[in-house]
Amino acid sequence: MSIFCIGRNYVAHAHELGNEVPTSPVIFMKPSTAVLAEGKNSTIPSFTNDLHYEGELVLRVCKEGKNLKDPNVLDYCDVITVGIDFTARDLQNKLKEKGLPWEKAKAFDGSAAVSRFFSLDKVGKDIQDINFHLDINGKTVQEGNTSNMLFPVDELISHVSKYFTLKTGDLIFTGTPSGVGRVEREDLLELFLEKERIFYFNVK
Ligand code: MG
Repeated sequence: MSIFCIGRNYVAHAHELGNEVPTSPVIFMKPSTAVLAEGKNSTIPSFTNDLHYEGELVLRVCKEGKNLKDPNVLDYCDVITVGIDFTARDLQNKLKEKGLPWEKAKAFDGSAAVSRFFSLDKVGKDIQDINFHLDINGKTVQEGNTSNMLFPVDELISHVSKYFTLKTGDLIFTGTPSGVGRVEREDLLELFLEKERIFYFNVK
């Protein structure tokens, strides 16, 4: 199973980290060992003093595809959820400064937290009009609506499949809205899809 992640897909988030707004989707990957499944608590790795949350809408691929183009691109993902793309921001900044790959800061064990998935039919909304938010210790820290994506979901699927064969079960993290920040030990993270809390866990 591959995990594809999109970087800088919300303009306000690109700006908050001082990054340029991309002209094509930024893609990076995490291994399957990055998954932190529902029911598990997150731990702050020993190699970071600045672990950040990035709440994101996550898609799951439902059939194999390559070089996908409209009009049927959305048929390749049948369920969605919300997740966290955990990032060792201090380490990422050091790697970025040196022009080195991000993986140590982005793809470590437990860096891709995801809950159970929901069919788009059940959510009952257009994929480009989905609200999600993240609360930490009862306070909302990130609010997103997929209408604010720089590259919409169909373009993301199409772009990823240009370079990588999509396989059933692959995940696509679609980028984070603004409001990213640091997590501390004992924080309670709660993720909401529309108004429903679907995923929560503690940081240890
Ligand atoms: Mg992210």
